[in-house]
Amino acid sequence: MSRPDSISGGCLCGAVRFTISFPKAEDWPPKGNGICQCTMCRKHSGSLLPQNCSFPKSHITPPLDSNPTFKRYASTPSAHRGFCSTCGSALTFQYAKEPDVIEINLGAIDEEVLCGKKDEAKAWEDEYGIHVPRIRGSGWGKELCYPQYHIFAENEIPGVTDGFEGSKYLQDRVERKAFAGTAVDLNK
Ligand SMILES: [Zn+2]
Ligand SMILES: [Zn+2]
Repeated sequence: MSRPDSISGGCLCGAVRFTISFPKAEDWPPKGNGICQCTMCRKHSGSLLPQNCSFPKSHITPPLDSNPTFKRYASTPSAHRGFCSTCGSALTFQYAKEPDVIEINLGAIDEEVLCGKKDEAKAWEDEYGIHVPRIRGSGWGKELCYPQYHIFAENEIPGVTDGFEGSKYLQDRVERKAFAGTAVDLNK
């Protein structure tokens, strides 16, 4: 599978910028990728479906902590969440026991990486608005963002956040079985 040398991301105001590299074939696509519906992830991100992906900290440059506007909030004694103190963008999740791994909030990845480059020359307008096609194959969103798991599925909102394919878990994944469907349909 082809892979990018690196992808870029950052916060809303641009004060925090970073690059994630994929030096080896096994680095792509990234595997620790999931959607978490726990209340802490929701509160921190402001999203109903927060999605993070883990990367080796050594593959992220410059180190996030080297940026003076990057701050951390200890959401529990065992984990902290990173954000930009200028614009408030929620950026990371990290377990204290895993100092070499950091989870990046996938919404912080740059648009061209997620969606592909815009082909402005082929733009057209109709009653729905302006359509700007993307250059096929110029983005990495599908490989990068397909969620491998959904956790804290007990917090699904029926009819709103329960309609997703893929393995689901109640609480975290540790030593628990995955299921499909909706949490409310699990049998007693
Ligand atoms: Zn910012
Ligand atoms: Zn969570």
